[in-house]
Amino acid sequence: MVKNSDLESLSIARLRYLAPWDVLRGSFRKGIVAVVGDAMHVVGPFLGQGGSAAIEDAIVLARCFARNMHGGQVIEHKVGEAMDEYVKERRMRLVWLSTQTYLVGLLVKKSPWLVRFVCNILMMVFFSDSSAHTRWWYLPKTHGHHLLGEAMDEYVKERRMRLVWLSTQTYLVGLLVKKSPWLVRFVCNILMMVFFSDSSAHTRYDCGCL
Ligand SMILES: Cc1cc2nc3c(=O)[nH]c(=O)nc-3n(C[C@H](O)[C@H](O)[C@H](O)COP(=O)(O)OP(=O)(O)OC[C@H]3O[C@@H](n4cnc5c(N)ncnc54)[C@H](O)[C@@H]3O)c2cc1C
Repeated sequence: MVKNSDLESLSIARLRYLAPWDVLRGSFRKGIVAVVGDAMHVVGPFLGQGGSAAIEDAIVLARCFARNMHGGQVIEHKVGEAMDEYVKERRMRLVWLSTQTYLVGLLVKKSPWLVRFVCNILMMVFFSDSSAHTRWWYLPKTHGHHLLGEAMDEYVKERRMRLVWLSTQTYLVGLLVKKSPWLVRFVCNILMMVFFSDSSAHTRYDCGCL
């Protein structure tokens, strides 16, 4: 893919990486601003976990806010507390992720054999289970698995119709864009006019609050 690309279209970015000791020491919150995702724990591409970890962050942050809500509102002075809880809850998970990335990075970049030997030992001792990330548990132990399943069912139920509409609209637009036969386009246009004439409807979609 790289070989066939126009050189002008390539942009080379430096790989960024936050070391485990920086994850341990970082405050990650200032006032009512906290960071999530790569801004908090950029881990390089070696593990394929950065994006997933960002989603975990969002879940934990949302939960910490929810714990500090009162009558559907986050109380102002509790915002900082909620963010501190979030950083505390995430820190050790991220230290482990960062450590694993660090070790894999040392192996990938062909370090001296002794370094690689030690890395391999550490990988075998601490990270031998390559599917461990898929089982990482980001809910408090008090929540049972059955609650997680129920929550996910509710989520799917709540999202389904919104997504059916989105998908239908994409389908119709797709048929129009790819120059389908005139009858298909005619029907699509009618359907678009009847169901999707309001082009700003998406901006008013309300997914509710936490
Ligand atoms: C080569 C490679 C492969 C990867 N493979 C995987 C994988 O397989 N699985 C996985 O889970 N993760 C993978 N990752 C990691 C994953 O891509 C990142 O961890 C994830 O994208 C981080 O999401 P984010 O929202 O925190 O940051 P980003 O995705 O970087 O989003 C930040 C956004 O903010 C924008 N932005 C920056 N500055 C400003 C500004 N001043 N104003 C407005 N907008 C701004 C940026 O343009 C960007 O769109 C990979 C990373 C790389 C580099």
